[in-house]
Amino acid sequence: MAGIFGIASKHNNNTEDLFLGTHYLQHRAQEYGGFATFNGYRVHFESDKGLVRQNFPKEKLEELKGDICIGSVSTENQPIHVLGKAGTFIFCFDGNLRPSKETEYQGFRDSSLISRVISQEDCFEKGIESLVNQVEGDFAIVSLAREGIYAARGLGRKPLILGQKNGSYAVSSESNSFINTGIKIIRDVEPGEVVLLTSDGVETVTKLDIQPIKYGTFEWVYTAYPASIIDGRLVANVRRRIGEALAKQFPVEADIVSPVPNSGRWHAVGYAEASGITFQPIFIRYDYSDRSFTPQQQIDRDFEAKTKLIPIESLVEGKRIILIDDSIVRGTQTRNQVIRLREMGAKEIHVRIACPPLMHACSYGQTTKEDNDCIASKISIKEIQEKLKLDSLEYATIPILEKSTGYPREMLCLECWGK
Ligand code: SF4
Repeated sequence: MAGIFGIASKHNNNTEDLFLGTHYLQHRAQEYGGFATFNGYRVHFESDKGLVRQNFPKEKLEELKGDICIGSVSTENQPIHVLGKAGTFIFCFDGNLRPSKETEYQGFRDSSLISRVISQEDCFEKGIESLVNQVEGDFAIVSLAREGIYAARGLGRKPLILGQKNGSYAVSSESNSFINTGIKIIRDVEPGEVVLLTSDGVETVTKLDIQPIKYGTFEWVYTAYPASIIDGRLVANVRRRIGEALAKQFPVEADIVSPVPNSGRWHAVGYAEASGITFQPIFIRYDYSDRSFTPQQQIDRDFEAKTKLIPIESLVEGKRIILIDDSIVRGTQTRNQVIRLREMGAKEIHVRIACPPLMHACSYGQTTKEDNDCIASKISIKEIQEKLKLDSLEYATIPILEKSTGYPREMLCLECWGK
């Protein structure tokens, strides 16, 4: 998992926008934060374990002054630099890549695979073409060069969007980076497209014919920030529409609708609006917790999940509650919360899930690690309901996702739902 950002202009120090643009992607990964900047003479690198805010205090930004800058938040140390046929490539990427069986790149993955493939080509765009043709998985990438920033998107699962502000051109995993930096959205980078950002604007260098395009459906359901616009769809609105559809398709009498925060929030707003049932959050999410999927170890993910939510007993006691969550992986988090809510006197607990039952681990770099982790791949929905001690349990369907995103199923990645 990663969030990537880049900004280019001429004779303009962009490190403040680099800092903010990357900081506003922090929800995508929290393990490493790194920058590379170019000031016309030399490249500065700085990366470390930790959050962008911790790694880059003001004094550090002073040292990193530059007008061509890239940055990332990631589960591995980035930016990466590699010497290739065409010189030095300095890049940050979001994705999960492994070699196709018939290629010479066996044993390489992710950044080492990108480095290997790109370094053998005589320009960035040819490297991207080789990645698309010889590698399995999906990716988005930004690369710092003397002339500006190259950015590219693979098959579509990893978002990448372009923006501009006062002679600077920017690219980011999510438009959330642009809002408080005053950068205006230009458009999404298209799947298969390679662009070059300079102080003169954005130029398409190459456009590969990607068939079929697959957008990362889980971005709208969970991963992306609600304020982001991903491939033309505001994330909060997609979530709201999923909630509305759940209310219409799976109604139930209850006193309150509550999200499991934070990602269940907008789905729950939609459910409450469509059902007419009071929106009443019963959990406070502790501000100093991480997202529970971002730690690398399961034991740490469980710890985050267990400690991040604080229920308010007086809002729970005697209530029939509809809980809205983005997904169920193992079911342990839901079961733990349900036990606590029952102890606090909840009368009924109905759960509505904003995506279909998860059947497989994502092979493109997100959330669950093993197919075997997915409870829905082992037992039926009825059995999950019984195991989690719920009064009812319903999941969103693929047609709900199609309708809520406005994209047909052919353009949506549905692999983690077994489709
Ligand atoms: S498999 Fe699921 S989580 Fe992975 S890219 Fe596809 S939709 Fe997203």
